[in-house]
Amino acid sequence: MTPRLWAAVALGGLAVALLVAAVLLVPWQRPPAPRADQLDALRDLPQEQVRKGREFHSALRPGSYGAMALGLAVTLALGLTPLGSRLVELVGRPFGDHWIARAVLGGLAVVLVAEIVTLPLAAWRHTIMARYGLSTQTWAGWSVDMLKSYAVSAVIAAVALLGFYTVTRLAPRWWWAFGAAGAAALVVLLSFILPVLVEPVFNKFTPMEPGPLRTELMSLAQRDGVPVKDVLVADASRRTRAVNAYVSGLGPTRRIVVYDTLLREAPPEEVASVVAHELGHAKDRDVFTGTLIGALGAAAAVVALYLLGGWGWLLRTAGVDSMGEPRALALMVAVVSLAGVVAAPAQSFLSRRVEARADAHALELTRDPSTFEAMQRRLSTVNLGDPDPPRWEYLYSASHPSTVERMAAARAYARGER
Ligand SMILES: [Zn+2]
Repeated sequence: MTPRLWAAVALGGLAVALLVAAVLLVPWQRPPAPRADQLDALRDLPQEQVRKGREFHSALRPGSYGAMALGLAVTLALGLTPLGSRLVELVGRPFGDHWIARAVLGGLAVVLVAEIVTLPLAAWRHTIMARYGLSTQTWAGWSVDMLKSYAVSAVIAAVALLGFYTVTRLAPRWWWAFGAAGAAALVVLLSFILPVLVEPVFNKFTPMEPGPLRTELMSLAQRDGVPVKDVLVADASRRTRAVNAYVSGLGPTRRIVVYDTLLREAPPEEVASVVAHELGHAKDRDVFTGTLIGALGAAAAVVALYLLGGWGWLLRTAGVDSMGEPRALALMVAVVSLAGVVAAPAQSFLSRRVEARADAHALELTRDPSTFEAMQRRLSTVNLGDPDPPRWEYLYSASHPSTVERMAAARAYARGER
């Protein structure tokens, strides 16, 4: 068997593994509450709040979708023409065309072009967030955040690029196998180290002060049978008024993080309701599920890219000789970006089902649907959410059930329906 045939077999195996993981680990049997209940919930929300949330999202849309379209257009222009391969050559030239310069600096240049082109739209988004009072950041603070996130991405990308092109040089016919294993390992590694090494770059985390709330949250976790090492408070208020909480890390790095804004805005019982939702993620091992599906997807992407490299027309279009050379990086980025745009609705769908399960867990654990509903209303008000977003946007990008769906789910629970 040739390496190409083995790659096709491996891709088939990875696709089956992805399918099995999705079927077994994603809660498919959790459809949203009936539309009539959602509309009832919508009617109970203050009209002024609904209007303001919708106005805010209409104002954000041109910048968000403009940046998405422009970023994709630039990426495709670089990857599906010889422009991207020329850019990589150009960046490598001062270094005597050394492959490491092409791989790392050339690769970073390809990614940076799309970032720079869409930067004005990101700045526009920030002006809107500031105008509506959601962002509390000055331009200096915003710029520092952007630079930090470029720096973090650049370090991760440089390591990945160096590793990947070392492998394509050492194993020109089998790089897809090592590359797939490496990509999967990188996803797992990032899942462990991002919360510990990267999140502190952007926020300060302090253990929650001992007191009634901390005691309540720890006993909630204990009652739930979820080992939680600590509850941390993030100083989110330095950049936003938005409230949130999340669980991150696997095993020994797992912790519950609560925004300081949440502690300021919401009464303790609502904080407990949010944390109960996060405990649901921990209990159902959603971080593990996300990491596993991400790792399988990353491995499949590398193998698929290798197989695409057998398509002569594509290589000629991009002006490269093979998929495994640094000059083909723009082509790979273009293919991956296009795949990301196509896969977004499926990802959002999976995420919504997982989030609905965490909501159901919170209701079961607290047995307090009215506080859960009050918390959802507060989340939507403070975060300027659209409680019932347009259907197309919901299907394309909503990672969580809508506010009216979550309110309706709480009411169904209160009626004893779930
Ligand atoms: Zn969640």
